[in-house]
Amino acid sequence: MSDTLFAKIIRREIPADIVYEDDDILAFRDIAPKAPLHVLFIPKKPIRNLDAAVADDGELLGRLVLAAAAYARQEGFAEQGYRCVFNTNADGGQTVFHLHLHLLAGRSLHWPPG
Ligand code: 5GP
Repeated sequence: MSDTLFAKIIRREIPADIVYEDDDILAFRDIAPKAPLHVLFIPKKPIRNLDAAVADDGELLGRLVLAAAAYARQEGFAEQGYRCVFNTNADGGQTVFHLHLHLLAGRSLHWPPG
């Protein structure tokens, strides 16, 4: 996989507002937030997107989702609600090809998305 913007954020070559980090996961605020809370959770492992994930990535992806849920709860959004999204390839709206979970909260989110 070629180097992406998010790989540069992991290596601290590009600044980001990091809100969570562990050995395998990094979370930082989206530069163009679509909701009052908009955080991207990424694996440090360079997986292109969900379509490129394999069975061995299952535990990592489970921890990624749970890290987002824990952060939403910590920030006080668990009860009012939030949305987690993995945009995948062109029709999914993916623009950065390093797997990421969008955590959106703080306003009523429409369904279906446009
Ligand atoms: P995608 O469209 O691939 O699902 O989401 C990529 C997200 O990355 C977009 O919401 C976009 O605003 C965000 N993004 C793009 N460049 C940067 C950046 O340099 N820093 C941060 N923090 N977010 C970025």
